[in-house]
Amino acid sequence: MKYFLAILIMAGLYVMTSHGAALAHDEDKDKYVLVIHGGAGTILKEKISEEQETAIRAKLEEALLTGQAILERGGEAVDAVVATIKVMEDSPLFNAGRGAVFNHEGYNEMDASLMDGRDLNAGAVAGVTSVKNPITLAREVMINSKHVILSGKGAEEFAKSRQIELADPEYFRTEKRWNQLQKALEKDIVRLDHDGDQTSDSITDTEGDPIDPEHKFGTVGAAALDMHGNLAAGTSTGGMTNKRWNRIGDSPVVGAGTYADNNSCAVSGTGHGEYFLRAVVAHSICALMEYKGLTLAQAADEIVMHKLVDMGGEGGIIAVDGQGNVAMPFNTEGMYRGYIKGHDKPVIGIYKD
Ligand code: ASP
Repeated sequence: MKYFLAILIMAGLYVMTSHGAALAHDEDKDKYVLVIHGGAGTILKEKISEEQETAIRAKLEEALLTGQAILERGGEAVDAVVATIKVMEDSPLFNAGRGAVFNHEGYNEMDASLMDGRDLNAGAVAGVTSVKNPITLAREVMINSKHVILSGKGAEEFAKSRQIELADPEYFRTEKRWNQLQKALEKDIVRLDHDGDQTSDSITDTEGDPIDPEHKFGTVGAAALDMHGNLAAGTSTGGMTNKRWNRIGDSPVVGAGTYADNNSCAVSGTGHGEYFLRAVVAHSICALMEYKGLTLAQAADEIVMHKLVDMGGEGGIIAVDGQGNVAMPFNTEGMYRGYIKGHDKPVIGIYKD
C-alpha cells in the first residue's frame, strides 16, 4: 500500500512539474501577455494599399498567436519571445532575417538580442550575414556561451559550432530592399556632389514601400510576461539601409534596444539606433520604474516622447511590466505593433490612432 501511495505521489509530482501551468497559481493562469513591434517610421495610410495592410496585419497576428500558444501552455517568456520574433524574421515584410535591408557594400548584416528578466541573463549578435534566424543565435549566446555579444565572423563560427541554421546570402535578399539600396547609393553620390549632408535628403520610394525609407525603422521585437511572472524581451534587425563600416545600432545592445528585468519591465525598441544608444532607451524605462517608482506608461512616455524627442531621435518602443500592463509609445507617424493578453483576441495597430 505504502509503495502504491509513493508511486501515486511521484506520478502527481511529475504531472505538475512537466506542465508549467500547474506550477503557477490558479489566479495567474490567464495572466500572460505578449507585445510586439515590426518597426516605426513615416508610415502613412495613403501609402499603404489594402493588400499591404492586410498582409502586415496578418503577419503581426500570426506572430502574436505563435507566442501566445507557448505562453498559454505554461511556456517561458524567453521562448515565446524567440518564437514570435522568428515568425517576423522569416517574413520579407520586415527589416529582420529574410527581407533585411542592405548595407553599403550590398549584403545583409543583421543584429539581434535577447534578455531574460529572471536573472538578467542576455545574449546578442551583431553583423551576422548567414544566420537564418539571428534571434536563435542570440539565445544560444545567452544560454551556451560565457559572453553577451558576439559579432561578425566569430559569431558565425559560434553558430556553426552550435548547429544553428545558416542560410545563403540570397535567402535574405528581396528586390524591394535591393532597389532601396540603389536609391540610397545614388543619393550618396548626389550628396557628395553637393554639401555632403548624409541625412537631409529623403529617398523617393517607388516600390510601394509604405514607409519612407529615409525615416523607416523596420526592426522587429517582442516582450512577454509568462504565467510564472517572468519577463523577457528580444529585438532583431537588418539595421539601416546603406550603413557602412560595420555600423552597429541599438538593437543588439542590451540596455539600448532591449532590456528585461522582473523588477520592472521588458522593453524592445525600434528607431534611429544612434539616438537609442545615446539615450540607453530600454534600460532607462526600466530604471525609471525601479528607482523612481514611475508606472510603465509614465516611464515609457518620458523616454520616448520627451527624452528622445528633445534629442531628435525618431522611433518607438513596446513594453510589458510584471502586472501585465502594456505600453507602445512612438514619436513617429506610425509603428507596426500589437499585443495579446491571456485568451483575448490580438490587438493590432499601424498608424497613430
Ligand atoms: N534601431 C535599428 C538600428 O538603428 C533600426 C530599426 O529600428 O529599424 O539599427
